[in-house]
Amino acid sequence: MENYDVIIIGAGMAGISAGYELAESNRVLVLEREDQPGYHSTGRSAAVYASSYGSEKPAVNALTKASGGFFSNPPENFSVQSLQRQRGVLFVAHQDEIGALDKFFQNLKPHNQQLELMSGSDVSKLVPILKPEYCVKGVYDRDVFEIDVHALQEGYLRGMRHQSGTLITNFEVTEMRYQNEQWIISNGNKSYYAPIVVNAAGAWVDELAKIAQVRPVGIQPLRRSAILVDPPEGPAVDNWPMVVDVQENFYFKPDAGKIMVSSANEDISAPCDVQPEELDIAYAAHYAGEATHLNIQRVEHSWAGLRNFVQDRSPVIGFDGEAKGFFWLAGQGGYGIQTAPAAGRLVAKLIQEDLVPDDLGKLGLTKELVSPQRLKGR
Ligand SMILES: Cc1cc2nc3c(=O)[nH]c(=O)nc-3n(C[C@H](O)[C@H](O)[C@H](O)COP(=O)(O)OP(=O)(O)OC[C@H]3O[C@@H](n4cnc5c(N)ncnc54)[C@H](O)[C@@H]3O)c2cc1C
Repeated sequence: MENYDVIIIGAGMAGISAGYELAESNRVLVLEREDQPGYHSTGRSAAVYASSYGSEKPAVNALTKASGGFFSNPPENFSVQSLQRQRGVLFVAHQDEIGALDKFFQNLKPHNQQLELMSGSDVSKLVPILKPEYCVKGVYDRDVFEIDVHALQEGYLRGMRHQSGTLITNFEVTEMRYQNEQWIISNGNKSYYAPIVVNAAGAWVDELAKIAQVRPVGIQPLRRSAILVDPPEGPAVDNWPMVVDVQENFYFKPDAGKIMVSSANEDISAPCDVQPEELDIAYAAHYAGEATHLNIQRVEHSWAGLRNFVQDRSPVIGFDGEAKGFFWLAGQGGYGIQTAPAAGRLVAKLIQEDLVPDDLGKLGLTKELVSPQRLKGR
């Protein structure tokens, strides 16, 4: 078949969550350049859901809150395994960061009753490898869990296919043209047709817009790197919370018996199959050494991914306004996994009824907050 109702470009978390929601009442085709879905940002995330993460951005806040229930209580038959696992996050501060930590606590406490202020000794009891001289105070947020990204991805794909949605991999979109009320989407050899195209190409959304002769939204991919190291001898680490420096200079968390450490870097990058730079790895090891008793002898594995932002760091979800049938699903930044269930529903509702789902509306989300038209220069 070559004709569809909606063609989605990109099989990361954004594209497949939208595909799943749209497939219920549309003929959906998802096109992916790589030989497997989730190869780029989606497969490289820290996989964390934190209701307070990004909550200063009204759109991220609404999409995150409205997604929470999906992870704890997914649709029947969505996944055989649980999509989430309790983790918790401990924000820590050294002496010079105490003011920032107190302010952080005061700002978030009204929205999150679970937040707990902790003394340095309580912090060390929770995560014994933290150096008391570095971590003199903390804020503990229990309302944080890890997402099984692979199970979520598989659930979306299975559900989409069950509703007759199609995924084609190894298909790099290189040509896009709007003609006779249809988008013609091609890799140079083969073309597919649909009145609506969803641009969910992650770091490449502006590249695709250029191919389609649509004005870009100004996406900026930022590289973030991580390393995997051995845990310390002795204590069981699996139940430790994630530990984040309150000014986000670094974070670490247990990861399948190892410890994942990131310097929480945000380095400007072109859209690409991004790799960590030596300095990223050195910084991660340096911060871990400053804040903990971890004795890093060897980096078992390192990787990097792109977090893609527009100027105001809120997602871009909506019809282009200038190019007919061209829908943006972009700029998820560091929140694209935790917001995916609600973002997918929002895409379907906007495309089908030009409306925001009621629950998202009640949480303060409006079309304008996420519309591409809000961006300067557009
Ligand atoms: C280190 C790191 C940590 C993170 N931690 C978290 C976290 O804890 N929680 C959270 O919620 N989020 C987190 N994120 C963010 C999250 O990973 C992203 O927001 C999300 O994965 C974005 O999904 P996407 O589908 O937009 O992009 P991608 O997963 O990059 O998917 C885009 C797809 O489009 C395809 N594509 C591009 N161009 C074309 C073309 N021309 N033709 C066909 N296909 C094309 C690409 O191959 C790619 O597969 C993190 C990100 C990173 C890098």
